[in-house]
Amino acid sequence: MTMLIQKSYKFCFYPDAAQVEQLAREFGCARFVWNQGLIRREYAYQQWGVSLSSAYDISSQITGLKKLESHAWLKDATAGALQQKLIDQDKAFDNFFKGRASFPKFKKKSHAQSIRYQLDQRCVLNNYRAGELLKLPKLGELKVKWSQVPGGIPKMVTVSKSASGKYFVGFMCEVEQDLKPMTGKVVGIDVGIKSVVVSSDGFHSGAPKYTYYYQRRLRKAQRVLSRKKKGSNGWKKQRIVVARVHEKIANSRKDFLHKLTTKLVSENDVICVEDLNVSGMMRNRCLSKAVADVGIFELNRRIQYKSAWYGKEVIKISRWEPSTKTCSSCGQIRIMKLSQRVYECECGLVIDRDLNAALNIKRAGLVLSGAIYQLDKVAA
Ligand SMILES: [Zn+2]
Repeated sequence: MTMLIQKSYKFCFYPDAAQVEQLAREFGCARFVWNQGLIRREYAYQQWGVSLSSAYDISSQITGLKKLESHAWLKDATAGALQQKLIDQDKAFDNFFKGRASFPKFKKKSHAQSIRYQLDQRCVLNNYRAGELLKLPKLGELKVKWSQVPGGIPKMVTVSKSASGKYFVGFMCEVEQDLKPMTGKVVGIDVGIKSVVVSSDGFHSGAPKYTYYYQRRLRKAQRVLSRKKKGSNGWKKQRIVVARVHEKIANSRKDFLHKLTTKLVSENDVICVEDLNVSGMMRNRCLSKAVADVGIFELNRRIQYKSAWYGKEVIKISRWEPSTKTCSSCGQIRIMKLSQRVYECECGLVIDRDLNAALNIKRAGLVLSGAIYQLDKVAA
């Protein structure tokens, strides 16, 4: 059995001098549009506490600006990219107002840059051959390092430059995905501090190895940077060193989550997770470091979409279920300090704290899904 899914691809590419120049223009225009939009919205938020959803409004202003001689340079950018920046800003504000993200920030030249736009589907066949050719408007053919051959035809394309100066092109394709075979297994997972995931069948994922190693390298690189004169050549070079370490951390984190979620979704048919309010947890200082490191939001997001890809099911448990405090054997509730790593109950159960929570999450998930006939298997 197969299923049509949206799959995203990202490749490194090597621009020539003209492309580097054009991309600098594109990024510059996109930054300008983003920052202009932000100024207006920040004002509206501070004055009236409201969200202006004004992609359309500002977009007509851009059209006006392009006609002015002083802003004619905006014409150098791909039009769709500027429009898309404003749509993305709408989304960023939506996330902020719903408590899912912090207030959108101004874009700086020294940070990572990106633009996105729709590829013209009428011309795409002339401009794209999977694994061989990719031509973009105003840029021409890109020298792409195809690390895999994408299936399907790209629609939305993202071109980005990392803070350390590497160029990437990414896009989504609709592809046919084989479903993963059914295993008949149900699992509950708890997001822990020492181990990213502890599952009800006793699997401890551990944490990505980068944590200590790269954190140390990052601190060292930042110390060197702080000793350099701001704006000097040495400072500029060292800033790229710092950005590279940041990228290494982000990549190894992504890689870890990718492998972990593929494993969970392959080995189980039903996955029960806690529906965590991440911004609420961020306020809890004890947990915030672990949460930021692990990216619970990202973990849940990946489990969610991979389950949809492979024909598996996710059950979300309310975070108000006392999964940590409840005894998974007899159901009694007791107070647990964050430092207590082992759950001990009067009924005689002595169990790892996170495993206990995972078992409770599994039980709650089964109750929610109505699969009560399986309940007696849960504690086993
Ligand atoms: Zn008990």
